[in-house]
Amino acid sequence: VCTTQHVIAAMRAAVRAVSENRDELVELDRAIGDGDHGENMERGFLAVDTQLRLVSPGTPAAVLKTTATSLISSVGGAAGPLFGTAFLRAATAAGERETLDGAAVAALLRAALDGVTARGRAERGDKTMVDALAVAVEAAERTADEGTGPIGVLRSAATAADSGARETIPLVARKGRASYLGERSAGHLDPGARSVALLLHAFAETGG
Ligand code: ADP
Ligand code: MG
Ligand code: MG
Repeated sequence: VCTTQHVIAAMRAAVRAVSENRDELVELDRAIGDGDHGENMERGFLAVDTQLRLVSPGTPAAVLKTTATSLISSVGGAAGPLFGTAFLRAATAAGERETLDGAAVAALLRAALDGVTARGRAERGDKTMVDALAVAVEAAERTADEGTGPIGVLRSAATAADSGARETIPLVARKGRASYLGERSAGHLDPGARSVALLLHAFAETGG
């Protein structure tokens, strides 16, 4: 099972993954947005790192909530509040639990997706982070139903998110800044969808 320490380690892995892939995210956003997605994500997750050191949260929910508030308060772009809402909803779904099993992880991911769609109103196929997250949630739920533990669930979510992100390439954006480009947004990977895949891979790396 996944303990509070595992969730903290997962967030630290996310901080590293975002920093290591910052330039890729910048390039992706340069093609169909304003080129700041890598900086936005890096700034957000560095704030997460700082806050986690300051508050030493005692439950998985507290880790997720600290992550959410750090992202919301440090990131001005569209993705900050959307990822913030995702982690906030995941925190609520985690409740008072001390540990998370595979089914709980799948439920957290479902809650995160619901938060993103409630806030951003994007549907699947709109070429946003939702395209990666929605298929990740479905894969997570299928894997959890087979009785798989949290890491197996996260691995299947991460693999599905890769496909979901790749599938944004031919799409025309209907939400966010990329939608201003209309047809010219086709032929490029959505940066937010790529971030979802990066985060899930980072989470899947950590024990639990
Ligand atoms: P900004 O567009 O404000 O510069 P970022 O560059 O940090 O913000 O984030 C852009 C990403 O945010 C997009 O690639 C897309 O995945 C995501 N995004 C934008 N608007 C929405 C929305 N309404 N719903 C879901 N995701 C969105
Ligand atoms: Mg941007
Ligand atoms: Mg911006």
